[in-house]
Amino acid sequence: MTSQKTTVRFITCHYLKRNDEFRRIWGHDFELFKNHMAFLKQKYPPVPFSIIRKYMQGDNISLPEQCSVITFDDSLKEQAEVISPYLADQNISGVFNLSTCIFENEPLTPQVVHFGTAYYGVRKFFSLLSMYLGEVGIEKNDYQRMGENYIDIYDLHRKIKRFLKYDLSGRDERVLLMHIWNNHLVKDVPDIMQKVYMSKQDVRNLINMGHEIGCHTHTHPLINDQTFNKQIMEEEIKKPKRILEEITEKVVDIFAYPYAKKEDILFNKENINSVRSLGFDILFTIYDTGSKKIDKNYVGRYSSQSTDSIDDLEKNSWGYEIV
Ligand SMILES: [Zn+2]
Repeated sequence: MTSQKTTVRFITCHYLKRNDEFRRIWGHDFELFKNHMAFLKQKYPPVPFSIIRKYMQGDNISLPEQCSVITFDDSLKEQAEVISPYLADQNISGVFNLSTCIFENEPLTPQVVHFGTAYYGVRKFFSLLSMYLGEVGIEKNDYQRMGENYIDIYDLHRKIKRFLKYDLSGRDERVLLMHIWNNHLVKDVPDIMQKVYMSKQDVRNLINMGHEIGCHTHTHPLINDQTFNKQIMEEEIKKPKRILEEITEKVVDIFAYPYAKKEDILFNKENINSVRSLGFDILFTIYDTGSKKIDKNYVGRYSSQSTDSIDDLEKNSWGYEIV
């Protein structure tokens, strides 16, 4: 049955629960993930994004009245090893938005915090970070004050993340976290790269299983109108696109903003056009952009939480109309 219009829900997932030394990472239980997919299949059947895009261009394609697109960010190993074969088995084609620093043996910036706090605990991570503040010219006292009143580790965790993301420049944040990565995590878990991240072959396997690849920057910096500049353009948008196109031998024209909440994306038209001029056509965010119809510059995705029931998934996600 050909319908006049369809409504598409965009869903994104990150981690699966782990059983190794990083078991403290908050991730979806695989059974929960499978339940989410079964629910979507029944009520909002997942459709390959490439098909939706052809439909958007006016191709005569028959789509259900309501459907979904499943996406994944952050280049995680479990997405290639566990999720992708499962999806292929279920005939679901997803979009995997990858950050490319992993192919240069380096972690995504925020994941030093995720894996670091999971491995060492939040308090130990907080003190490790304090060891390197001098490297980026931060007064230790100011930083230590931040930890004093935060007895609750969840509060401290949030505070650390906000400090790194908003109080430091992207470069300082990276310098600081790479000290922890190289001097601690890599020493304590020598095979951390292989444990945590996809290989180039994993990416080729994703393509062979019928999935699509999008670009999620090189190192996962904050990109908004305040941080946007030539260096971000070159290093974090143009370069990863080239790397991914070399690996996949396909055109990569989907860009997924890092973090991607409202305060983490571009609104300035000139900036958006600069990104588009590099060959990107779809810009993914992670919040409800409020528009009824799809807008290629602001395609909002619901970030599925590891605590989401089926009801939560349905209530918290939203659809875009495509006519
Ligand atoms: Zn991300």
